Amino acid sequence: MPYTVSDFTTPYRPTWCPGCGNFGIWASLRRALVEMNIAPHDFLCVYDIGCSGNGSNWFRSYGFHSLHGRALPLAMGVRFANHKLRVLAFAGDGGGFGEGGNHFLHTCRSNIDMSYIVHDNQLYSLTTGQASPTSQKGMETKSTPSGVAMQQLRPLQLAISAGATFVARGYADDLKLLTELMIAAIKHKGFAVLDILQPCPTFNLVNTREWYGKHMKKLTAENWDPTNKDKAMILAGNWQDFIPVGIIYQEQRQTLEESLPALAGEPLIRQVQKMDVNNLVEELR
Ligand code: SF4
Repeated sequence: MPYTVSDFTTPYRPTWCPGCGNFGIWASLRRALVEMNIAPHDFLCVYDIGCSGNGSNWFRSYGFHSLHGRALPLAMGVRFANHKLRVLAFAGDGGGFGEGGNHFLHTCRSNIDMSYIVHDNQLYSLTTGQASPTSQKGMETKSTPSGVAMQQLRPLQLAISAGATFVARGYADDLKLLTELMIAAIKHKGFAVLDILQPCPTFNLVNTREWYGKHMKKLTAENWDPTNKDKAMILAGNWQDFIPVGIIYQEQRQTLEESLPALAGEPLIRQVQKMDVNNLVEELR
């Protein structure tokens, strides 16, 4: 039976501000899942804390709202327990690249087979607009009234250098392209990072829709080869001249699950269910 957008929608409404880019991101995700005809019970979403995490109330699937910056280790744990279950992890740029920066690097290294969708509005917006790792140098925010003093993080450059095998950027208002990128990320075998430029009209008055419109450049099959790692590393660092949008880098490599003998058969959770726990306790005495 084909699924529809309403199969992925709960009766609850998110508390996002009017005009928030989150609406486009979650609409694209629903479209992607409908197009792939994935059932709501066939995957699990792990959410970080932040405006993006409010999607958990509005989105119907298995879900776990984790601690700030900890979506990735939790999602990884789910994959270890049941590697037959599809897993999507969501975070903002603050939790994803700030508090969760260390987890991000090591998940890229692992090439575990799951998708990481980052709502990147270049601010901590749930807490009313403090600078995040992707805020531009010099940007005046609540926490940096004299301007951000540090260099802006280039998360997609980090992702490629750390070993992620699918690295892409989307834009929240371009639902057609974003849906295609989500499908590509979910289908990719390995760790897929999809960083999404997300307008926050309430707090980010620098990176506005007009600003994105002037700075984004779409990657196509005619103007870009996503298999060239050296060139992808340079492109992924672009922000000043133009911001590349599309699949920046993709390769096929053994996944973490494929390299672990314990995951060669049925999911660990099934193996544990068949175990006599008393024997295990005896063994560990
Ligand atoms: Fe969206 Fe910004 Fe409002 Fe958060 S504060 S809901 S990111 S517009």
